Amino acid sequence: MDHTISQQLFAKAQQVIPGGVNSPVRAFRAVGGTPVFIKSAKGAYVYDEDGNRYLELINSWGPMILGHAHELIEKAVSDAIRQSFSFGAPTRKEVEMAELIVSMVPSVEKVRMVNSGTEATMSAIRLARGYTGRDKFIKFEGNYHGHGDSFLIAAGSGAATFGTPDSPGVTRGVANDTLTAPYNDLAAVQKLVEANPGQIAAIILEPVVGNMGCVLPVEGFLQGLRALCDKEGIVLIFDEVMTGFRLARGGAQERFGVTPDMTTLGKIIGGGMPVGAYGGRRDIMDYVSPVGPVYQAGTLSGNPIAMSAGLAMLKYLNETPEVYRQLDVIGSKLINGFKASLSKLGLSYTINQVGSMYTLFFTEQAVTDFPSAKTSNLPLFGRYFHAMLERGVYLGPSQFESMFLSTALEAPHIDKIIKANEESLKEILA
Ligand code: PMP
Repeated sequence: MDHTISQQLFAKAQQVIPGGVNSPVRAFRAVGGTPVFIKSAKGAYVYDEDGNRYLELINSWGPMILGHAHELIEKAVSDAIRQSFSFGAPTRKEVEMAELIVSMVPSVEKVRMVNSGTEATMSAIRLARGYTGRDKFIKFEGNYHGHGDSFLIAAGSGAATFGTPDSPGVTRGVANDTLTAPYNDLAAVQKLVEANPGQIAAIILEPVVGNMGCVLPVEGFLQGLRALCDKEGIVLIFDEVMTGFRLARGGAQERFGVTPDMTTLGKIIGGGMPVGAYGGRRDIMDYVSPVGPVYQAGTLSGNPIAMSAGLAMLKYLNETPEVYRQLDVIGSKLINGFKASLSKLGLSYTINQVGSMYTLFFTEQAVTDFPSAKTSNLPLFGRYFHAMLERGVYLGPSQFESMFLSTALEAPHIDKIIKANEESLKEILA
């Protein structure tokens, strides 16, 4: 595969953009080589500047659940742009969007739109603090909640990939109010709560983690957190930026039957446009300005183009529940194919999967938390990544990421990915 134009663009990019990219993982540092510069995408395929085509399992890190440039979203956006791009004033579409989110997500009685997942989690924590009058919160090692200062403690995703889970630039004062526990370790959370009586405002987590690779909650973990928060008056926040509208119509909270007090959303609710949202119990949400004292605002929040894309996406998902069955079938077919190849090759690597999210970990250990995810052979993952890329399959360029499948993946695509996987494993282990 020829990557000449991508290489030229990357050389130029590095002169004027830190690391040549606008978000760290894109730089391919974890896997080596030159990032592929994308020109366009349609359905299950992305096309790069050199004219190469890839079946892709990133889907913009989640939003493109129906595949790229889906005609419904395309039409909604092209209709909207004729009515101008931003008003900074209320619109009908925002009301429809809020009503739809409230009807779909079990925990959400009121919701505020923002412009990214980062904004959603920052605002949710501020609100939980304002509501409870407490300063500290608990997050989990290897979970990623965007790049807000207080979340860059033991953070997952790119922060984990680059060995900077605790970022310079975050003051000690801020860091002191973020307590961390190992994922899936309820006893550790209980200890933290006991050691900080009456001081914990919130517990925030990815109910299924995507950001240390795909990691599922063990039986009883989410329920245990729910009971603990009820007992201690702590606001339970599910960060469903990745899992929302993906693992079920009502997200992971519907799939696992545990309702948090607040939920943060992003990605799919914008249909690929920059959107986030935070919502939850009415009494908590009514602490937000202008009804309540907790301030949060945004010039472009509820942007009409973004709302149009997101509304088209959510309406479709709301009215087409079979999408979730379809995604589960696609996920199972792919993973069954991978498992068959692994056993044929005598390998026992770990695959974690739920619905349309999965990670193949290059470790033989069960992966249930960040330390076990880190037992993966990272150089081997890098070679696997490039072997797949050369076979026309574009994966997330780090072991500590989940893949995101879309409904655009049809049987021949799935067969091709399974074949590429088997060939790639053979190649890197030869
Ligand atoms: N929360 C989670 C669970 C995420 O996965 C991400 C981003 N991948 C964020 C928050 C931050 O979202 P954004 O990149 O839109 O700021």
